[in-house]
Amino acid sequence: MKKNRRPNNKISGHFSKRDFVCRCGHCNSAIKISLGLIGGLEMLRALSGNRVNIIQGYMCPDAAEKLGSLKRNYYTMGVAADITIDNVPVIDVFRMAHQVPEFRGIGLNLDKQCVHVDTRKAPDAVVWVEEHNHLVTVDDTNRHRYIPDPIPVPSADFFSDTSDE
Ligand SMILES: [Zn+2]
Repeated sequence: MKKNRRPNNKISGHFSKRDFVCRCGHCNSAIKISLGLIGGLEMLRALSGNRVNIIQGYMCPDAAEKLGSLKRNYYTMGVAADITIDNVPVIDVFRMAHQVPEFRGIGLNLDKQCVHVDTRKAPDAVVWVEEHNHLVTVDDTNRHRYIPDPIPVPSADFFSDTSDE
């Protein structure tokens, strides 16, 4: 007999509220999360055909204050997440994130080996690479250094290529 002790946490086909709870360990599990962000993450799930892992979702204001970074405000607003994707190198997650129109902030974090995505209100996507705790803004002049290959376009091959045989 199945007994549901938890409320239904599902917020979309592949994501649950518990994926996004603040990691500080001191606040309760109430979260803010934007449906636009979830929609973008679902698109990444579809593009990659792999599980999208939420490394950091919502962040409570206390946890953000301790970090003292302006960027972190997007987490407290519920419009940002740090992610990895199973079986996909972090650089390809970064490239793939450019295909999602909802994502207006895209950051490759080489220290943490994850990708930041957010749905901030900005006319053009803000893109950066973070390494050794140093942020480099990526624009047309240096984009080739970080994204040497074209952005992958999903195809039948892309979705079905699951073996190395
Ligand atoms: Zn917290």
